[in-house]
Amino acid sequence: MSLAGRHIVITGGGSGVGAEIATRAAQAGGKVTILGRRSEPLQAVADQIGGLALICDVTDAAAVDATLRQAAAEQGPIDIAVANAGAAEGVPFAKMTADNLASDLSVNLGGVFNLWHAALPDMKTQGWGRMIAVASTAGLKGYPYVAGYCAAKHGVIGLARALALELAATGITVNAVCPGFIETPLLERSIANITEKTGMSAEEAAKSLRRSNPQDRFIQTSEVAEAVLWLCSEAARSVNGHALSLSGGEI
Ligand code: NAP
Repeated sequence: MSLAGRHIVITGGGSGVGAEIATRAAQAGGKVTILGRRSEPLQAVADQIGGLALICDVTDAAAVDATLRQAAAEQGPIDIAVANAGAAEGVPFAKMTADNLASDLSVNLGGVFNLWHAALPDMKTQGWGRMIAVASTAGLKGYPYVAGYCAAKHGVIGLARALALELAATGITVNAVCPGFIETPLLERSIANITEKTGMSAEEAAKSLRRSNPQDRFIQTSEVAEAVLWLCSEAARSVNGHALSLSGGEI
């Protein structure tokens, strides 16, 4: 699969899933721009793959817009926008505050909206585009203690489905991938949170999360990246408004 000549922007590209998508996109010949808040991991990935690293908080719509204009000035119009940045804060609903909810929605849903909104004009002008969200199985089913995260990820699926129909005649497709638990820094933080709150060992906590996948394994970042690259291909041009579960049959 080739991304030659395509400019792909990936949020949260300095770690985990985003770094893997960035690496594989560069290997496929794409011009890669990665966004995130921390300079060090972002620049390390960019240096490794020969991409462009731009500091940007995806919750800030004006900043995302300005950053995409800068990326386009340096690497050409945006062809592919992968909204991958996200965060999960585990807290029981009874202890959850309105601020917790706002924060969950802001990064996990608002961040997707901001990226796709800023990328749309370039895609429309070119009559081709790919909008992809790294959502989650939490966009398709509920999990305890992450109500805000689940609400946001369900929102991402709704946004993708609606936008897919709105843009169907424009050459742009809009899709989401929905992985189960993936081995990344985010998962490590979730396991640490469970051990701290419950007294479980890290091994027990990992086991309890792994068990939600009927294959009793964690998803690998390479599996998510391959699915994203496939959605970028011409072969996937009829796939639109889809939420692709990568979960070993969990959902
Ligand atoms: P990760 O390594 O923690 O990656 C999250 C990335 O998002 C980081 O690079 C982070 O960079 C960036 N980010 C967070 N808030 C941001 C903000 N406000 N503005 C810009 N960038 C921001 O975890 P990951 O597992 O790879 O997560 C990637 C995506 O996969 C997320 O959407 C997550 O919800 C989803 N997912 C993860 C799992 C899992 O089990 N790991 C399962 C299903 C779905 P900075 O901190 O530098 O900004």
